[in-house]
Amino acid sequence: MGGKDLADGPLQGSGRGRGSGGKPAEKERMFRFLREASFLKTERVEKALRRVDRGFFVPAGERGFAYYDTAIPIGHGQTISAPAVVAFMLEALDVREGMCVLEVGTGSGYDCALLSVLVGASGKVVSVERVPELAALARENIASAGVSLDNIEIIVGDGSEGYAPDAPYDRIIVTAALPSLDLNHPLVAQLKKDGKLVAPVGEYVQDLVLFGKGKMQKILPVMFVPLVGKYGFGER
Ligand code: SAH
Repeated sequence: MGGKDLADGPLQGSGRGRGSGGKPAEKERMFRFLREASFLKTERVEKALRRVDRGFFVPAGERGFAYYDTAIPIGHGQTISAPAVVAFMLEALDVREGMCVLEVGTGSGYDCALLSVLVGASGKVVSVERVPELAALARENIASAGVSLDNIEIIVGDGSEGYAPDAPYDRIIVTAALPSLDLNHPLVAQLKKDGKLVAPVGEYVQDLVLFGKGKMQKILPVMFVPLVGKYGFGER
């Protein structure tokens, strides 16, 4: 299983044995599926997904599944989302170069790296993670994938109430399930007037909700781990 053929990432076999894992044919099959099923719609998002190799963000033993459309456990009871959900959320969010984006739930750092590529050097990604070990792992994974951390700020804390110091944001993405979302939610308050927010909302099975221009739309049924914290679910 070689990493050589996958674009842009360092070769696998670095000291920690991490790196890209999917075979090129599997990778192409996945992109075909994402496009044909319309999870992937724009060249911008496809380019970002091709630039950031998911193999660097899954545990070493799972690398062979990097280009399968499945969520994968990353430790601490958390998961990296399936590629279709990642693509769908990024398409819905419509991230542009130069934007300031807040992510709640850094996890493996995969979404964070993708957002970093999408906003570019003139933009900024602020990502909040409550588990310190995952925040550290995310930084390592992003660096291993060859993505610059210069426009990324990873903060350890409760992101359920957003992150006020860098607000307001052009875009907000929540990657753990919120119990509820309405116009009075602190995350909505940290969004610019013409901003957009995507978040899974509900318990067990959720709706992915897109908020923008004062409107809440349910855009996809999804399953995410719960958000815990002040505006999340109780500790489990
Ligand atoms: N975006 C991630 C997937 C994250 S899984 C990726 O690309 O891999 C959800 C993450 O949300 C977990 O890491 C979990 O620890 C984190 N989380 C849950 N509640 C949180 C909260 N209140 N604040 C910040 N992070 C939270």
